[in-house]
Amino acid sequence: MSHGSPRYTAGIDLGSTTIKVVIYDGSRYVAHMTFASWNPAGTAASLMATAATEFGLTDPPELVATTGYGRRTVKNATLTPTEITCHARGASYLVPGCRFVIDIGGQDAKGIRLSADGHMEDFVMNDKCAAGTGRFLSTMGQALGVHVDHLAKHAEGQEPHRINAMCTVFAESEVISLINQGVERGAIIAGLHASIARRTASMVASLRPEPPIVFTGGVSQNVDIVQRLSAELGHPVIVPKDAVYAGAIGAALLAWEHRE
Ligand code: ADP
Repeated sequence: MSHGSPRYTAGIDLGSTTIKVVIYDGSRYVAHMTFASWNPAGTAASLMATAATEFGLTDPPELVATTGYGRRTVKNATLTPTEITCHARGASYLVPGCRFVIDIGGQDAKGIRLSADGHMEDFVMNDKCAAGTGRFLSTMGQALGVHVDHLAKHAEGQEPHRINAMCTVFAESEVISLINQGVERGAIIAGLHASIARRTASMVASLRPEPPIVFTGGVSQNVDIVQRLSAELGHPVIVPKDAVYAGAIGAALLAWEHRE
């Protein structure tokens, strides 16, 4: 490290639903998140100020890597790596030796295969349709009167009711019709989770995921989906602490490696 190298870097993941900020000093990090807004760069800046204060910094880091949909909205970014690169890097940091990453966020789902030394070998992505994403779950949760954070609890131990529609709009109609037929809410939710697990497993099948498999993004917080996805893949899926920050952590690490 040259003498004038920055002692802190930051990673910002400007997603479709949330904005995440991580500050890193080579050994520890702090992480903060908030909902995305009409002004992603402004929201990211105030989140950065909060994170910097928590880290004990008077000024936010100058070396910043941004990723996610809104990565180009932040004007002073030094690097703008893709989400694939950042999630791969962040997941390998959170689970050393990780060989496969599944990320399901608000608006897309991805699978990333990593080499033994943590490099991205191949990936698949669904960003064309909301089915199987966090947005899909939030919409269904609204129809069912269950907040997204409580879906897993309702589905636990329930026999899934088959949901046939793949498209979010049709699935919502199907869910409403099932409610009106008197089908148990837990069984409908379990059916939605099972459909996400099936969809995700088939999306990544061509990459032949091998363990350790790490699950990142907002949807990884749903333990019922984690269990059903593990069963579909035939391998346990790991959700490390801070899995929702994997992209921002990866960005902060890439910025750190970029110093000099
Ligand atoms: P992005 O990076 O695209 O902004 P995130 O990775 O932050 O997305 O994920 C946001 C999505 O995660 C939301 O759409 C929400 O539905 C979903 N989510 C958050 N918490 C949970 C939970 N406990 N169970 C299921 N889905 C969740």
